[in-house]
Amino acid sequence: MTRDADRSCPPWCKYASGHLHLEPEGPGDYHYSEFTVLPLPQLPGLRERTEIQTAIEQHITATTTHQPMIWLGLGPEGRASEALTLDEATALAAALTRAVARVHNAPGGPGLERHDPV
Ligand SMILES: [Zn+2]
Repeated sequence: MTRDADRSCPPWCKYASGHLHLEPEGPGDYHYSEFTVLPLPQLPGLRERTEIQTAIEQHITATTTHQPMIWLGLGPEGRASEALTLDEATALAAALTRAVARVHNAPGGPGLERHDPV
């Protein structure tokens, strides 16, 4: 019988082992990691103060252990959110890294250090 093993928590789960509540025909439950919150201060004319959150989540039902997903929330308390597979999260991280590198590597750099002489 593997049910006990299925209910054990992965090392990243923030809850105590045995926290899952699984009913035979129920909706299942989740393992969650701690949330990482990235506060984004207001930038006048560009954006209001907001935040991005990320966490690991894994949906478990009485019969299925789904793959861990990377949860990404935007706005206070993750008003908009999406769950990404590990491959999708890796692709997003790579795309962000490439975009930042393109700006840093462009002639003149990011443009923040350039000031016209007064
Ligand atoms: Zn757990």
